[in-house]
Amino acid sequence: MTQSNGENQQKTRSGLKQIRAGIQSRSVKARQKVENMTKDDVKGFFTRNAFVILTVAAVIIGIAALDSRASGKMGIRAVVYYTTTTIIAVFIGIVMVLIIHPGKGSKDEFSKQQQIEQVSAADAFLDLIRNMFPPNLVEACTKQFKTQYAKRVVHVTMTINDTLVAPNSSQQIEEMIPVPGSVNGINALGLVVFSICFGLIIGNMREQGQPLRDFFDCLNEAIMRLVAIIMWYAPIGILFLIAGKIVEMDDISAMGGQLGMYTVTVICGLLIHAIFVLPTLYFVITRKNPFVFISGLLQALITALGTSSSSATLPITFKCLEENNKVDKRVTRFVLPVGATINMDGTALYEALAAIFIAQVNDYQLNFGQILTISITATAASIGAAGIPQAGLVTMVIVLTSVGLPTDDITLIIAVDWFLDRLRTTTNVLGDSIGAGIVEHLSRHELQNTDPEVGNSVVEE
Ligand code: ASP
Repeated sequence: MTQSNGENQQKTRSGLKQIRAGIQSRSVKARQKVENMTKDDVKGFFTRNAFVILTVAAVIIGIAALDSRASGKMGIRAVVYYTTTTIIAVFIGIVMVLIIHPGKGSKDEFSKQQQIEQVSAADAFLDLIRNMFPPNLVEACTKQFKTQYAKRVVHVTMTINDTLVAPNSSQQIEEMIPVPGSVNGINALGLVVFSICFGLIIGNMREQGQPLRDFFDCLNEAIMRLVAIIMWYAPIGILFLIAGKIVEMDDISAMGGQLGMYTVTVICGLLIHAIFVLPTLYFVITRKNPFVFISGLLQALITALGTSSSSATLPITFKCLEENNKVDKRVTRFVLPVGATINMDGTALYEALAAIFIAQVNDYQLNFGQILTISITATAASIGAAGIPQAGLVTMVIVLTSVGLPTDDITLIIAVDWFLDRLRTTTNVLGDSIGAGIVEHLSRHELQNTDPEVGNSVVEE
């Protein structure tokens, strides 16, 4: 009896030990799990989830805003104008950043030579198409295709003033890099293409599509409010992110120089678009002096510069166009509100340029497919951006994510964005106004044949 009691006690003790060990190992695992939950997980929670909702809702709403009236002749003219000028703007942005190369650093002590084993041009193109039309949309939000990866081989060699100081220090790092459009676990390009198609369909459904328009509008509003809450804490986060970047940076003066060059590149791109491209287009189509037209817009342009918001400027834009430039109200009332929502040449130019700048700063070599992806997503991101201050900075995430560039690096350009935002907003307002002038000119015959009081009759054709 006493023996069995002793055995039982021993069993109990060893059982307790096992339980304690189990609890300890579980608590160690739990602690590890908590420790492993780095800032990246928290950031991923926001960037991935907010990103998917923001992209889908903002692009769908932007496109659906064209609404049923876009099927009229005036709508088609406006859409052709918006698309053409946005594509030209993106093209200017890309050419400028590739020529000026503002992200080029000073000569580093530790030179990093990267050789990227690129996928062939044909493969890159096919991957682009594959990513544009994902077979499974839910999968596109969570998964990327592993088969579509390219290998990057990085050779790190230690040199001082071009002299190889430690020949044996050369090391080779191999990592997998994602192909265009399928990055960070999200096929951003596929989502954007789907959202554009879906927005077009909803827009064409007229009254029937209203519940869906309301739904996505509300979703967009909700996610923007979430972003607004996060933005309250942004200064603290940004402070530490910038401090982190400065510590990481080998050469602060090089970064200062890069940011200066970046600012100059954006200004040059915007100036080319605003002073050369848009006025030329206006002159070629209307045969009227574009600068006389622009002088009538001065008040709106100054307001855009002051407010950094196309939407806040809208009432002044109406006034300038209708009172100073005598543009028909039936045109302005249709073209301007839609333009303020989806036609943002300055934002599109800036987003493409900034994304490539961030790639340059990080020494990423973008291939043709990736540059094409940037141009498509920058166009979509400008459509999705609301006409409010720094909205373009938020939708930049779409562009960066689409080619696997670090979204953290938006912090690099935040310092100058308050200024560049003003300039791109002014370009956006100019683009909308010149668009109204061009559409009015092209629609003059229909406008003459319709009653000015029955505004929609032209539009409904
Ligand atoms: N602030 C710009 C606008 O209102 C949008 C942007 O951030 O690019 O047009």
